[in-house]
Amino acid sequence: MKIAVIGFGAAAIGFVSEAKDKGHELHILERSKDIFSSSISGIRSDGKLFVSTSMGGDILVPEEMQKEVVNFYLEHLDESERKGVKTGVSFDKRSPFFGKFYSKGFEPINASFYHIGTDHLKDVLGRIYEDFSNNKNIKFHFGVKVESVEFVGDKFKVLGEGFEGTFDYVVVAVGRSGHNLIKQIALVHPEIITSGNIVDVGVRYELPNHIVQDLNEEMYEFKVQMRAKTGYLVRTFCNNPSGQVVLEEYDDFVTVNGHSNSVGASDNTNFAVLVSTSFTEPFNDPIGYGTYISKLGNILAGGRKVLLQTYGDFLENKRTKKIGRVQPTLPQDNYVLGDINLVLPRRIALSIIEFMERLGDVVPGIAYPDNLMYAIEVKFYSNKLDNGRYNNLKFIGDCSGHTRSITYATCHGKMAAKDLQ
Ligand SMILES: Cc1cc2nc3c(=O)[nH]c(=O)nc-3n(C[C@H](O)[C@H](O)[C@H](O)COP(=O)(O)OP(=O)(O)OC[C@H]3O[C@@H](n4cnc5c(N)ncnc54)[C@H](O)[C@@H]3O)c2cc1C
Repeated sequence: MKIAVIGFGAAAIGFVSEAKDKGHELHILERSKDIFSSSISGIRSDGKLFVSTSMGGDILVPEEMQKEVVNFYLEHLDESERKGVKTGVSFDKRSPFFGKFYSKGFEPINASFYHIGTDHLKDVLGRIYEDFSNNKNIKFHFGVKVESVEFVGDKFKVLGEGFEGTFDYVVVAVGRSGHNLIKQIALVHPEIITSGNIVDVGVRYELPNHIVQDLNEEMYEFKVQMRAKTGYLVRTFCNNPSGQVVLEEYDDFVTVNGHSNSVGASDNTNFAVLVSTSFTEPFNDPIGYGTYISKLGNILAGGRKVLLQTYGDFLENKRTKKIGRVQPTLPQDNYVLGDINLVLPRRIALSIIEFMERLGDVVPGIAYPDNLMYAIEVKFYSNKLDNGRYNNLKFIGDCSGHTRSITYATCHGKMAAKDLQ
């Protein structure tokens, strides 16, 4: 069969690694100009792999397969790089932290972590690309932004800038950044959408390493969630010891994110505090909701910048005019000191405060007034898509709405390829 794989991220890597020796002709269509310069994605930034049955996606992925995927990525590091991979276990039940968080109403989430780091991810991707390119069944087409996928009889016409091809089978693996293509396909085939309507909105929180040193040392990433009095689920996400806060660039707005290299460079740890918001009818545009809030933050910050506020000023509803003892790791031209209360809806702001104050009961200093908050951080969820609808059109990874992590997206790709004849 002639197969189009649209997008080359984690899910496509999983799919191609499994499908490459099945005798099909695989055409990988990636909108970036090369393997490295892609849109926003954890496969090109940070690279924290984790094995967990309680987070990363809503598909059932056996732990064995997750471990296999983690090993696949680690095998693409050289020996010295592999030694530099930081590992940890978030909330092993034997951990003294488990009981501490649990007793304060948090749900500690168990996972094993392997942190490759932004710098070494380049090598991993480069080597995977090299392996794939040496396979005669695989052809890469870079700089092809696919704009439509059309049924033509029992085949598909795939169209993009300067590209047109006919395929027997199409695998869409465009991640969250490819939502326009999904929207376009769903416009013609609304039957592929099963559900949606969730967005996570919150802030990136930054504090000195020493406050969370014990947690960082024991588990590298601590993941906890809690149901706030507002009814919203609040959680920590993407903890970066000795990390940097960075901008996440979209076409018409910016948000905030965090990452760290394999060798830590800063004195600060950052993590996201996210509030899950789900909507009911008639509203059906959670991406629009997250986008509007992010844009409001940019407007108040005067352009493609985010707002920065101390936690103390956030509590007191005061614009931050002066930073205290915690120095931001985000470069100064990327933020403006301001008041995040002017941007966050009240229910979300209250949920964050309750969560941080409760965290402060477990980790002294975590809710210290000098600590920093950057807004907005947003996690868009794709609509959930139905892969059972068509035999030869499949959606894998984050664009399918069923995964949210490198490990799960890669496993999803592998599972789809295993089903190929
Ligand atoms: C900044 C950031 C950091 C993250 N860090 C982590 C982490 O440390 N650990 C973790 O587990 N998860 C992390 N994630 C989540 C993780 O990146 C995703 O869950 C995972 O990469 C999803 O894989 P995917 O293949 O579905 O999408 P992606 O990996 O995003 O790949 C999609 C690919 O499709 C391409 N594409 C998009 N549209 C088109 C189009 N129309 N035509 C052609 N090509 C297209 C994109 O350029 C991209 O290369 C992070 C996400 C972000 C945004």
